Amino acid sequence: MDNFNKKDLEKIDILSLDLPQLENVMAELGEKKFRAKQIFQWLHIKKVFSFDDMTDISVQLRTKLKDIFCIKSLFIAKRLESSIDNTVKYLYRLPDGNYAETVLMEYHYGMSICVSTQVGCKMGCNFCASAIAGFVRNLTPSEILMQIYMTEKDRNIKVSGVVLMGIGEPLDNYENVLKFLRLVSDKNGNNLSLRHISLSTCGIVPKIYELAEEKFGLTLSVSLHSPYDDERSKIMPVNRRYSIDELLKACRFYIEKTGRRITFEYAVIDGVNNSPEDGNHLVSILKGMNCHVNIIPVNKVRERNYSSKKSEAESFAQYLSKKGLNATVRRTLGSDIDAACGQLRRDTLKFEKTGGVNYES
Ligand code: SAH
Repeated sequence: MDNFNKKDLEKIDILSLDLPQLENVMAELGEKKFRAKQIFQWLHIKKVFSFDDMTDISVQLRTKLKDIFCIKSLFIAKRLESSIDNTVKYLYRLPDGNYAETVLMEYHYGMSICVSTQVGCKMGCNFCASAIAGFVRNLTPSEILMQIYMTEKDRNIKVSGVVLMGIGEPLDNYENVLKFLRLVSDKNGNNLSLRHISLSTCGIVPKIYELAEEKFGLTLSVSLHSPYDDERSKIMPVNRRYSIDELLKACRFYIEKTGRRITFEYAVIDGVNNSPEDGNHLVSILKGMNCHVNIIPVNKVRERNYSSKKSEAESFAQYLSKKGLNATVRRTLGSDIDAACGQLRRDTLKFEKTGGVNYES
């Protein structure tokens, strides 16, 4: 069951184009410049994903558009709704049959969405389910954007915050993520303030420097998870390439350039990274930095023995706070549908591999 035919996929992916690019195509077609803005608004404000529904565009031009462009909408392969809060988890099927996971969460200020940036991940963090299923490919700007737009249409809402914390390493798909950031915040289109966007990275140092130069004003979250190089290298292979010292230097540069505080993510794995020594060392390496530490009890991943209780995360956060570090425990949402990062996609792949009957058919 495909949401696409092959011929369509060979056409230009219109949702990945910014307004100047769309204006260029219109000029090539001999059309007026303002047509580009009209189409851009149909896509990014009205979220209309069929050229036939763009009623202020002539039938003739619509036919031309259909010849050149495709609108790659996603297909909801699975939707899990929490019964304890309004969290909804989506498994989207992409036009080529791959999958992306998206989570919609409700906060007091509005709806926030967690999007994926890659199909799978190369980074190999050993507590993360995304790594276990392996890397397939980067998501395009439109595929990152569509996770938001399709979810908004499905729930009839407008999201007010976006976190790039789903499957994948955003800074390993740098160009497409940058294009996505520009599109989602475009004043002529979706117009979401970059201040309401967080980007989470495992610490690809050169890209942190590049991102700092963009002065986007988004919140940078850095997954730290241990203050010691040897321990961090064991759980996060990226640390063998970029040490904690290099990472923190890049973070200081980011803070200086953008004036924004950095968030450090720290998943407490009991017995691995929550001893008083870990706490003391964490405090000492982050001393004087404009930052916040987000403590998360590690999500169970079936292949690993790692675990931690909320109480252990809370006592570690308290320990850090007492030592003067700004640390809080992240609120848990949707715990009844809680499949740790990447688990939903991986389970589906396993199911397909073993020849199980697909839940859609
Ligand atoms: N690649 C990016 C973003 C994706 S993961 C990054 O590494 O930051 C989003 C966050 O979830 C990261 O902080 C990651 O370390 C964390 N995470 C992954 N698996 C987890 C698990 N089992 N329990 C708790 N946090 C986890």
